[in-house]
Amino acid sequence: MIKYLLGNIDNPNAAEIEEYEKAGGYRALTKALSMEPEDVIGEVRKSGLRGRGGAGFPTGMKWMFAANDPKFPKYVICNADEGEPGTFKDRHILEKNPHVLIEGMAIAVHALKAERGYIYLRGEYPEAEKSLQKAINDAYRKGYLGFPLHIHRGAGAYICGEETALIESLEGKRGQPRLKPPFPVNAGFFGGPTVINNVETLANLPFIMASGADSYLKIGSPECPGNKLFPVSGHVERPGVFELPMGTTLREIIYEHAGGIKNGRALKAVIPGGISAPVLPPDKIDCPMDFVSVQKYGSMLGSGAVMVFAEGTCLVKVAWRALKFFEHESCGKCTPCREGTGWLRSILERIENGQGREGDIELMEDVAGNIAGNTFCPLGDGAASVALNFIRHFRSEFEDHIGTDCRKMAVL
Ligand code: SF4
Repeated sequence: MIKYLLGNIDNPNAAEIEEYEKAGGYRALTKALSMEPEDVIGEVRKSGLRGRGGAGFPTGMKWMFAANDPKFPKYVICNADEGEPGTFKDRHILEKNPHVLIEGMAIAVHALKAERGYIYLRGEYPEAEKSLQKAINDAYRKGYLGFPLHIHRGAGAYICGEETALIESLEGKRGQPRLKPPFPVNAGFFGGPTVINNVETLANLPFIMASGADSYLKIGSPECPGNKLFPVSGHVERPGVFELPMGTTLREIIYEHAGGIKNGRALKAVIPGGISAPVLPPDKIDCPMDFVSVQKYGSMLGSGAVMVFAEGTCLVKVAWRALKFFEHESCGKCTPCREGTGWLRSILERIENGQGREGDIELMEDVAGNIAGNTFCPLGDGAASVALNFIRHFRSEFEDHIGTDCRKMAVL
């Protein structure tokens, strides 16, 4: 199996530029620089690369929109604001293999004829900042970077992972989403055409440029080529980050790579793509993990973060904690999300505390149903979907908890 994102992870010096060069690093950039920018975009389009931040939008198409916009200057921003609960994949690239990202950014800047690049880094990743800054300094020293590349640390708001809120924050304003359209590819950072790509997305580019789109298309599933990083957490024997081809099944990820359920317990539930992705029951784990297949199984690939819950876990408590997170991270710009996430959290809290009332489940369905589709950005939809899908798959557990104090039950 080819590994090109974290293939060198066992080398303790993998973050050093000399080690990266020894493994063939920066040759893809040299090749890309010898090509016309339009041809680089063409190769990325041909590769079928889809964004790894959650939405799965075709990267080459996004680039083409920005490239076709006549306005200058243009910008490339790396979204390194990894804040989705359960997700810790980008952190590995940033800390252990930063040059693959920097090389990817340099390729993107050349393809888009961009003026500069920014890496918007999660505020809680100080180690990543050190590793990245050293790597950027070394890349300048070796002459690989001919454009300004800055790191900007966020201040800890989940919503700044949403691309327009990220741009607002980068411009020095309060990090709240903008109305779309216009999209950032036409009117992004200070109004310039701006491409925002996730860390893992950009880290795919050196392999695509070095090996060619045809080689890349041979990895993964036909509609979603390439490798994917799957961070696995929860009740498994070997939690960690696994680089596997797109389309690897949830079953293989949990039972082969993560070592199965802890202490031989049975699987009760799994969230396949970070906390915003709808929960799945155990009979869905033959789902191939790619953007298209996971949707067919009733969830979404999202960040690819697999959260595993063993038999004995109180799922009311899991849902309550998830809604507590969304309430805390709601930016407050629109009413259904600002008020609704707190309302859902409070209902779940009283059910969890043994003070649930008859009709609470129906009330949650009503509140969540009124949030979904009525919010300014996807955070509100995600919160509603979390509540609705826990109820949908585990309704009897919620019913059993009405009037029952289950606080002593085991949970992560
Ligand atoms: Fe803010 Fe929530 Fe509205 Fe998004 S949905 S704009 S996070 S209040």
